Amino acid sequence: LTKLSNLTADYRARDAAHHIHAFSDMKALNAEGSRVIVRAEGSWIYDSDGNRILDGMAGLWCVNIGHGRKEIADAIQRQMADLSYYNTFFKTTHPPAIALSETLARLAPPQFNHVFYVGSGSEANDTVIRMVRHYWASLGKPGKSVIIARNNAYHGSTMGGASLGGMKSMHSQGGLPIPGIHHIAQPYWFGEGGDATPEEFGVQAARELEKAIEAIGEENIGAFIAEPIQGAGGVIIPPSTYWPEIARILKDREILLVADEVITGFGRTGNWFGSETFGIAADLMPIAKGLSSGYLPIGGVMVSDKVSDVLIGPGGEFHHGFTYGAHPVAAAAALENLRIIEDEKLVDRVRDDIGPYLQAGWKALGEHPLVGEARMTGLMGALELVPNKPSRQQKFPDTGKVGTIARDFSFKNGLVMRAVRDSLILSPPLTLSHDEADQLLAIAKTTLDDTY
Ligand code: PLP
Repeated sequence: LTKLSNLTADYRARDAAHHIHAFSDMKALNAEGSRVIVRAEGSWIYDSDGNRILDGMAGLWCVNIGHGRKEIADAIQRQMADLSYYNTFFKTTHPPAIALSETLARLAPPQFNHVFYVGSGSEANDTVIRMVRHYWASLGKPGKSVIIARNNAYHGSTMGGASLGGMKSMHSQGGLPIPGIHHIAQPYWFGEGGDATPEEFGVQAARELEKAIEAIGEENIGAFIAEPIQGAGGVIIPPSTYWPEIARILKDREILLVADEVITGFGRTGNWFGSETFGIAADLMPIAKGLSSGYLPIGGVMVSDKVSDVLIGPGGEFHHGFTYGAHPVAAAAALENLRIIEDEKLVDRVRDDIGPYLQAGWKALGEHPLVGEARMTGLMGALELVPNKPSRQQKFPDTGKVGTIARDFSFKNGLVMRAVRDSLILSPPLTLSHDEADQLLAIAKTTLDDTY
């Protein structure tokens, strides 16, 4: 044990000396010391002190098939030996890109038959901004450049992605958002629904889009972008009326619909894509994360026939691309990952088996005196922590403090959950076993008791 704690202390000191972490207050982090994760297998991660912790976040919502799959390592190794790098710029291509595009066209909703590759979800959303504007310009309507997005959305950390995102904390650094992005309300009934029923509030929140269109003018708007379920914003599952009302508003209007499926894609909500779960007929679909289960970085924008007909026709050359888009080894990892999801029927499993099982236990946590709402779709859930159970509008005075305390208890108890404001967020691997689900729920319960 002394040996292990010396090892951890050594890692921490070296990390603090040279590493600036993402989304971290470095002074506070260095005072406390990083958690050093050294190994992972299935649903479990292992830290440098020898603790085994259930990965309730599947890494960062991405390790859909679980950690440490040898099949992926083998596929990567094979591809490395054949072609470790080439790109698909300037009239070239390679077999993994060809096969992956074919597979994605088969798995995605029927309107999607093309994909543009990038290295991450942020790059996918930057691509969306340029692609939407290029699409309308190619149709002789360059004025249609405004993109409507939502408060508290997360679309990435690049200038474009963070501008589409609606995180005030991000906009406050680096001069964001960039021009031409307009934000409207989010369908967050628990936090913002007031006295309305969820169904009433869903319609109300969707009509913010209609109001924005009327104020800005359809002739100036290129697209509306939204996550089917807001993930990093706090697993905000829209009321059942929200997406149908969005569809009504966009019907017969010349505005592209972009469903950011970076989290909700590849089985997370119990269908291949969240768009299917909510009946969303999108024109563009950014994807990443579960595309490769995070084994290697790869993302893309799925392009519907409506858009690809223009890009491939009058659009001409799209002056856009990333050195590591369609990276052959990442594409080979993604292909093997999709094969595993298909062969092991993980999407069906989320819809019919482990999904309903975990949801039932999770909803039961809603009875806890600290929980104002327990919600989950597929394997994506949140527990809203409240100071006064019957009154959901009442918040803790120092927002985020209780959530952070609960998250830290959870980690100590052996389960990774994430804190968003004063809620706990869950998004485990789709391979989670029933036994692991039981352990997860027991730790979540203990964590709530510890926090209460
Ligand atoms: N879009 C959504 C919905 C996301 O949740 C994320 C990341 O969490 C991104 C985009 C950005 O993806 P990346 O971190 O791969 O750039």
